[in-house]
Amino acid sequence: MPRLRQNITTGEWMVVSPERANRPEDFKVRPFAAQLIHDKQCRFCHGGEAWQTHYFESVTKYTYTIPNKYPAFSSGLNIEEMGHGFYSDDSSSGVHEVIVLTDPKDTQDSISTIAMYDLLKALQSRAKIAEKNPDVASVVPIYNHGMGSGATIAHPHAQLFASPVIPGRLKHEFEYTAKYYKENNRCVYCKMAKFEIKEDIRVIAKNNYAVAFAAFAPRFLFETWIVPLKHTNSFMRASDESIHDVAELLRFVIKNMDKKLGKPALNWYIHTSRGIDHHLAPTYHWHIEIAPRIAMFGGFELGADMTVETVLPEIAGKYLRG
Ligand SMILES: [Zn+2]
Ligand SMILES: [Zn+2]
Ligand SMILES: [Zn+2]
Repeated sequence: MPRLRQNITTGEWMVVSPERANRPEDFKVRPFAAQLIHDKQCRFCHGGEAWQTHYFESVTKYTYTIPNKYPAFSSGLNIEEMGHGFYSDDSSSGVHEVIVLTDPKDTQDSISTIAMYDLLKALQSRAKIAEKNPDVASVVPIYNHGMGSGATIAHPHAQLFASPVIPGRLKHEFEYTAKYYKENNRCVYCKMAKFEIKEDIRVIAKNNYAVAFAAFAPRFLFETWIVPLKHTNSFMRASDESIHDVAELLRFVIKNMDKKLGKPALNWYIHTSRGIDHHLAPTYHWHIEIAPRIAMFGGFELGADMTVETVLPEIAGKYLRG
């Protein structure tokens, strides 16, 4: 029987249709999965062309930061309407940076917890600077891992997008979770984290400050969410303990995906409001979503923005746990 499920943080509907499914193990064999090859003349390696543009003050033990060579959002632009009257067409101001893991061996499938923590701390400190920019309305830290994730350079790196608008998905989450708060007087993420731990069906791993679980109504096969247990709306204001424990779970989940799903390409992204978004402080709760890129979207997924998944999240969680 197909099951209709709703994402409690966005209101989006999706279908799980396990009859069509294989066993989770069947996703492991994907002989066409290609890997990006690390170039000997890598621009991101120490001393390389990109490395030479790094911000002096950005260097941490495991990372350095550079401006994106082809930015989606660029600082120093005057917001200028180039509009065509009917359509809006403004200069895309903001910040777009690349946070590079200095050692090319620190790929997401082999990184240590301490390096992952350092990467998240580097993203946090760059995000804190970016959000001070008066043009910046939202900050989205992301990571593309592997061929098929959107990554084009093998050398491991995260990116920080800080844009003058609030992108649709984030806006939708802010509004839907605020509505939940108004109706229930509770933060939906706090409640969800407690519920997941208590049910203990979809939970993949847990530590003192965070929990990782297979999303109840995912958009992607084996989609996993990591939710810090302490309520904070903004990643930029998260404590070191929270970030450490989130880093530990992020590393654990990606390693298990790598091992059990045959090195899938994946993306992870941090959903956060800005530290200065005080109106969202009680209602929003920062978290990480991990999206393995195993299946392609079909016409229904694209046309209706509603996904049909073939593995029950309860089975996905259990499979990724061990
Ligand atoms: Zn390199
Ligand atoms: Zn919360
Ligand atoms: Zn989210």
